[in-house]
Amino acid sequence: MSVPAYLDNAATTAMRPEAVAAMVPYLRDRFGNPSGSHAVSREAKKALEEARDVVADCLGADASEIVFTASGTEADNLAIFGAHAVRPGVVVCSAVEHHAVLHPTEILGGALAPVLPDGTIDLDALRLVLGPEVSVVAVMLANNEVGTVQPLADVVAVVRERAPGAVVVTDAVQAFSWVDVAAAAAGADFVAVSAHKFGGPKGVGALVVRRGVQVRTMIHGGGQERDRRSGTSNVAGVVAMAAAMHATVRDREATVARVGALRDRLADGLLAAVEGAAETGHRARKVAGNCHLTFPGVESEALLVLLDAAGVYAAAGSACTSGAVEPSHVLAAMGVPRERGLGALRLSLGPETTDADVDLALAAVPEAVARLREE
Ligand code: PLP
Repeated sequence: MSVPAYLDNAATTAMRPEAVAAMVPYLRDRFGNPSGSHAVSREAKKALEEARDVVADCLGADASEIVFTASGTEADNLAIFGAHAVRPGVVVCSAVEHHAVLHPTEILGGALAPVLPDGTIDLDALRLVLGPEVSVVAVMLANNEVGTVQPLADVVAVVRERAPGAVVVTDAVQAFSWVDVAAAAAGADFVAVSAHKFGGPKGVGALVVRRGVQVRTMIHGGGQERDRRSGTSNVAGVVAMAAAMHATVRDREATVARVGALRDRLADGLLAAVEGAAETGHRARKVAGNCHLTFPGVESEALLVLLDAAGVYAAAGSACTSGAVEPSHVLAAMGVPRERGLGALRLSLGPETTDADVDLALAAVPEAVARLREE
């Protein structure tokens, strides 16, 4: 049996060795609470603030603009609820957002902005949805399912023109591994990231809140994070996130080139090997690690079971709602036909993906699809 191929890096990544090494001392020897005043606390405070400088630098922000959170989900929620509380109005988000943005928008009675068949936002339709009553606009930088990178600078320009009082929130959780977020999200008022998607630990995230932009805290208590997010700081987690961020930015260009070539070989190989296979979205507009395909006549869940048994760890784009498997809201918004959406497969590559992983998937996926089609 060959070594399994982990192709679910969009779900989560292994921690980078640099991040583990940076974290360990703060779990045991340097365990201080950074809010205290004695030497042990001061040591933790110093580490927290040094990590903040690194995170700020990697995100193109000032250290004072960084709010550490306990997840990407919390960062998204803080941006949307926190901005809306300060400036009540209509919240608009793209139809392909992660649930961490979609659900807060729904709770606030917001509106969805449609996307084009390639998954990018329909800027003309966005223009029509926006108006002076809109106070928050959320458009992700890269999609978690199909990998589409949004033209964020164009979105910001449209928002400034049509809803000048609104703030722009961007969920950069899936983008950070592949995209220069500092440049791409420069115009956004809020930028959310999550450490476990780029080689950091789970349960740590950050939100950039641009200077002068108001946000109401959701978690009240000791007033940490300049009163924007209370709770004892996760020093070890934040230190590890900073180390993972630094390494990701340092290696990004090379990773994108190497993994992008692997992804192309995987996608092209599967498109050639499986009859009726189609690629979702436009490859040139996706992050380098995303390979999203649909196979008509196959159910994603059954495909995943066979792939799991073959040692290929992947994900589907469908969600199980009240017992019925339906294509995801992302595929529906892109206008992917239902029959195709039901047979969706997401193979997400990462910095540790190898040629052997791709070879295994190239052998296992066509075999599994053929088996399911015979049944
Ligand atoms: N936003 C996007 C685009 C994601 O892919 C995810 C994770 O799947 C999240 C937000 C949530 O991040 P976390 O797992 O840190 O809560």
